[in-house]
Amino acid sequence: MMLHPEIESLDRDDMAALQSRKLAALGKRLAASPEWCAHFAKAGMHPRDLAAPDGLAHAPTLEKADLRAHAPFPMLTVEVSRVARFFATSGTTGQPVLFGFTEGDLKRLACQVARHLRCAGVRPGDRVYQGFGYGLWIGGPAHDLGLRELGATCIPVGPGRSELVIEWLRDLAIDAATASPLFLAHLVRAARERGIDPKKEWRLRTAIVGGQSVSLAFREQLEAGMPHGFRAHNNYGATESGGPNLATACPHSLERDEMHLLNEDALVTEILDPKTLQPVGPGEVGEVVVTTLDKEASPVVRWRTRDLVHLSAKPRDCECGRRGMPLIGRIIGRSDDALKVRGVLVFPSQVEDVIAGTPGTVKEAWQIYVDTMDGSPKTMTVAIECETGCPGDASKLASTVAHSLQSRLGLKVPVECHPQGTLPRYEAKARRVLLKEEP
Ligand SMILES: [Zn+2]
Repeated sequence: MMLHPEIESLDRDDMAALQSRKLAALGKRLAASPEWCAHFAKAGMHPRDLAAPDGLAHAPTLEKADLRAHAPFPMLTVEVSRVARFFATSGTTGQPVLFGFTEGDLKRLACQVARHLRCAGVRPGDRVYQGFGYGLWIGGPAHDLGLRELGATCIPVGPGRSELVIEWLRDLAIDAATASPLFLAHLVRAARERGIDPKKEWRLRTAIVGGQSVSLAFREQLEAGMPHGFRAHNNYGATESGGPNLATACPHSLERDEMHLLNEDALVTEILDPKTLQPVGPGEVGEVVVTTLDKEASPVVRWRTRDLVHLSAKPRDCECGRRGMPLIGRIIGRSDDALKVRGVLVFPSQVEDVIAGTPGTVKEAWQIYVDTMDGSPKTMTVAIECETGCPGDASKLASTVAHSLQSRLGLKVPVECHPQGTLPRYEAKARRVLLKEEP
């Protein structure tokens, strides 16, 4: 299921050679930009040094602060008049940062996303419910472009309008979906409440789920509620990398809870130790650091995503035939999401794993409450929901989760159990860590 087999099956050496050629061309383009020359000068370098074999490994990394310092059009390398469309980061902290796309950038994005869709089993002619958001966010528009490039039929509802979507999934015989995994899980539940059985009445065969990393247990429960054979393929990308274009699971890596970096002919994705910025070895955890090779407007060089992943124990030569596109695990957390609770490092994803693995909990509804948002809370409470009709009582479920959290984290954490439907729900990215309100 390769859209571009001539590129997707390149081996490691051919891929590296292609990347080197494009890095040299990128250095030439950046050399025309005073902002980029000043940025490289901070590391005693010039953009043209990207042509050297070790050029990228020594290039300065790019951080949010670098972009904010150059508002409103940070590190833009073309005239604003050549930008066909701007997208922006979500801006949960501070103002959104604008990223420009030329006509050419949008065409290349369409090909990149189409490659991901094909990898996840979406076919030309499929009817696809597109559930990612629109506007400044790149998720929805990028999937519109990709579906069009692939030749699939896009039904662009975006997130929300659950009642309409659960009926359309049945009445329009929709084959595939692109959406947040939390929202898909919500749709399954909402359908059942309205007397529609997704297993029997929907035709969904595959989905690309992204914007949010979910555990294997969550994905398996989502798949169990869908028509027989349905698979949910994790997807990963970022506005800074140019869209939802970094990684998607193929049918083989899906079984191992891994994803392929699928556009390494257009991006260099380094997995680096966040402290030393040295590449990590197979099976180790590192931060995803991205360089865009082809972008005309708003390119990035060594953008620090802060997202932490395991590099696969066998990163290359997947059974699907993709040899030089490395494999990574799902996103296990953001390095700046980690909480230091009384000296113990806690990732929200660890809490999610425990909840998702405990029968009787509502998988998409849980929160962490802390006494301060500075990253080092003194107290932390976990709130969960108990499924309606689940055998046993709520306090027993709470103590089961508390016990598992203690053995997983090495930390005693109070757990509150609430009735189903009482904690916040999120259509896109969930905010799992919230400030505990004073009683
Ligand atoms: Zn594969």
